[in-house]
Amino acid sequence: MNWKRSEDLFQQALKLMPGGVNSPVRAFRSVGGNPFFTERAEGCMLTTVDGHQLIDFVGTWGPAIHGHNHPRIRSKVAEALDKGTSFGTPNPYEIQLAQRVIDWVPSVEKVRLCNSGTEATMSCIRLARGATKRSKIIKFEGCYHGHVDSLLVKAGSGALTLGHPDSAGIPAGFAAETIVLPYNDLAALEAAFKANPEQIAGIIVEPYPANCGLILPDAGYLEGLRELCSQNGSLLIFDEVMTGFRLARGGVQELTGVTPDLTAMGKVIGGGLPVGALGGKAELMDLLAPLGPVYQAGTLSGNPLAMAAGIAALDLLEETDPYADMDRKGQRIRNALLDAAKAKGIPLQLPQAGSMFCLFFSETAVRSGAEATASSVNLFPKLFRHALENGVFLPPSAYETCFIATAHDDATIDQAAEVLSEGIRRL
Ligand SMILES: *Cc1c(COP(=O)(O)O)cnc(C)c1O
Repeated sequence: MNWKRSEDLFQQALKLMPGGVNSPVRAFRSVGGNPFFTERAEGCMLTTVDGHQLIDFVGTWGPAIHGHNHPRIRSKVAEALDKGTSFGTPNPYEIQLAQRVIDWVPSVEKVRLCNSGTEATMSCIRLARGATKRSKIIKFEGCYHGHVDSLLVKAGSGALTLGHPDSAGIPAGFAAETIVLPYNDLAALEAAFKANPEQIAGIIVEPYPANCGLILPDAGYLEGLRELCSQNGSLLIFDEVMTGFRLARGGVQELTGVTPDLTAMGKVIGGGLPVGALGGKAELMDLLAPLGPVYQAGTLSGNPLAMAAGIAALDLLEETDPYADMDRKGQRIRNALLDAAKAKGIPLQLPQAGSMFCLFFSETAVRSGAEATASSVNLFPKLFRHALENGVFLPPSAYETCFIATAHDDATIDQAAEVLSEGIRRL
């Protein structure tokens, strides 16, 4: 394939923007080569500026659960656009989106809408600290919660791929308020609570960590988190920015019945436009300004275009209830790739939950961030390259999760599975 037009644009981009990208995961640093530029996206396909059509398993890194440029989302945004782009006053779309979130997500009685997942997790942390008057936060190795200062410690893919798990520019004192523990290890958590009595404001966790490959909780683990938080007067924060609305309408909390105190949301909730949200019990949420002492704000929060896209995306989920079908497609691709790896004699783990899956080249199941980084990542770039050259776009990092959209039909899934299986045979 010829990528000359993308190459030319990237050379221009490099002069204008650090690394030529506006988010580091878009750079192809860990798989080699340079990123392509996308001209347009439709359904499950990206068309590059070079004219190549690619089956997309990145899904704009999570939001595109209905595929790209869905006519329903487009027309809802067009309807909103007709009325103006931003008002700086309340608008009726906010009510519609908030109502859906509250109806769907078990822990959410009130919601605050913001502009990104990072804003949502940052505000959850501030709210947990404000509510408990404690300062320490527990997070888990490999979980990514956006680029919040105090959470950018052992934070999964972007940081792992670039080889600096901790960012420069974060005062040691900030990181010192963050306790990092291994995921799937309740004993470590119990010990941390013992060592820091009445100091822990909350635990933030991706209930299914999906930024370090995909890691699934051991039976009873999330229930254990809930219990330890309650016993110790700490708040449990589920970061469902990735899993919310994707694995079930109400996210992992609906699937597992484990109810957090606060939930951070993003990605799918915005239908491809910038939206984040945090929600929880009314008495906690009412601690936010203007009612309470915890300040949180946003010039463009509740933006009518973004709200319209989110409303359409959620309505589509309600009408189509695609979860069982996406899970079936996930299993279809999983089984095909496991067969190919077995035939080739390559150890492969392929954790999959609904529309999310990832490949770990490992002999054993991956249960934590440390085990994910211990898996062999040197095979992935080769598979990535083979896939790209044959029309399949995987995330450009061994530590990312692949996403299936409702727009991937069975024929496309099978076509992609064949390309990836051939890639595995050639490793
Ligand atoms: C993507 C992501 C975030 C950050 O969201 P942004 O919109 O990129 O700021 C936070 N938490 C999780 C689990 C994510 O996957």
